[in-house]
Amino acid sequence: MSKRVIVVGAGLAGLTAAYELTCAGFDVQLFEARERFGGRVQTVSLGAEQHGELGAEFVDDNHTALISYATQFNLKLEPAFKFPDDICYYIDGNFSTQKTLTAQQQASLNDLYEQLDQLLTQQADPAQTLAEWLTSHSTDPFACKVVRQQSYGLYAADPEAIGVGFFAYSGTSGDRNLRIRGGSSQLAMSFAHFLGDRIHLNTPVRRIQQQEQTISVSLETVQGQVEVFADWIVVTIPWSVLRHLSIEVPLTEAQREAIAHLSYGVSIKTLLQYSNRFWQQSSWGLVVGETPYQTVWESTVTQPGEAGILACTSSGTPSRNVAGHSVELAQQTVSTLKPKAPKAIATATHDWSADPWSQGSYCYFAPRDLKSWRSDLPYSAGRVIFAGEHSAPVEYCGYMEGAIRSGQRAAAQISAFVIT
Ligand SMILES: Cc1cc2nc3c(=O)[nH]c(=O)nc-3n(C[C@H](O)[C@H](O)[C@H](O)COP(=O)(O)OP(=O)(O)OC[C@H]3O[C@@H](n4cnc5c(N)ncnc54)[C@H](O)[C@@H]3O)c2cc1C
Repeated sequence: MSKRVIVVGAGLAGLTAAYELTCAGFDVQLFEARERFGGRVQTVSLGAEQHGELGAEFVDDNHTALISYATQFNLKLEPAFKFPDDICYYIDGNFSTQKTLTAQQQASLNDLYEQLDQLLTQQADPAQTLAEWLTSHSTDPFACKVVRQQSYGLYAADPEAIGVGFFAYSGTSGDRNLRIRGGSSQLAMSFAHFLGDRIHLNTPVRRIQQQEQTISVSLETVQGQVEVFADWIVVTIPWSVLRHLSIEVPLTEAQREAIAHLSYGVSIKTLLQYSNRFWQQSSWGLVVGETPYQTVWESTVTQPGEAGILACTSSGTPSRNVAGHSVELAQQTVSTLKPKAPKAIATATHDWSADPWSQGSYCYFAPRDLKSWRSDLPYSAGRVIFAGEHSAPVEYCGYMEGAIRSGQRAAAQISAFVIT
């Protein structure tokens, strides 16, 4: 008899786990709370046959697991940015590109990046937030401001909250990044197409219980509460959401602590479509700035048409002032960077911390969390296997790559249990 596996959550982690387990001959059912699959991957169409991403957009060129599935599903990857050449800065009211940075600014920035690299080489996790570390490691206000903005842009986290040991992993991303042609949702769709009616949308899991030989799960369905049983369960729900569910499973103290306290960044992503690409006369790559939206870039570089879409993200505590006025403040940010910018012709926005099924953007680690419970935390408890970006190797946490790798790991763990 084939072994039954329940997968909870149809983001990339759940889709990957369900795909791999189905290929390995397991009887898989995947339950998803939302009315769509993809989770924090959400491509949206605006006008003029153009699209943007409300969630994940970029694929680093060293994200090999994702690239390998994209190849398998015949998806094309297109160039996005080269680092650091394409980064521009808006600091202290001045716009600068890599080429216009002063020698002093460039040297101070390089010095900070080298010191962060050393932390990574030593696998250090000092008891310092990024903000504290910057104060004690640089006297250059420009370099400190740039790195602070990168904390928002990369990890959606306040520099006063993120551990510098974790922030140092930002140095492990590739030299250039890519996008999936047609949008990131193409990848989720490819998995979902294969899985077919094994995926059940609009079906939130409310309780997970382990009995001696089985797992039972309470589902909220249109017919009311339903109980389903399986031999194994893969739980990919973000821990920001999982901590509010009833999980009657033999967890270790460290697991309970991690589920309860793992930090999540907050982020609002807003897309503004304009009738023409007025920003292209100046060299805009990815703009990192002291504006309500700390990062702005063009999402339509490889999409045809006169119109174009700017993607803007506001993260961390500053994003609290943006909530409720997101489109207006995104347009204000663009006007600050490019005075006389016209009004957007179409918009889309999503606040990931107000979203009940994510309650945050992606995980980050506070000072000492990497050392105290992250490095050797087991991602299984009895018949429950945890997956999701938060359970990936540290350098992939917060990325689609992390979700995919965790899904592969969960499938391999179950296969190994069954074989032994
Ligand atoms: C604004 C933003 C920008 C990003 N940019 C990038 C980027 O450029 N590149 C990159 O690689 N990554 C990026 N990411 C991160 C990336 O989106 C995530 O790391 C990845 O998609 C997480 O996948 P996952 O499967 O772990 O989680 P999710 O995608 O969150 O999947 C979990 C699923 O579980 C479901 N769920 C929750 N609770 C329940 C329940 N009780 N019952 C059933 N289902 C439930 C959710 O609805 C969701 O579909 C970004 C994320 C955000 C928010």
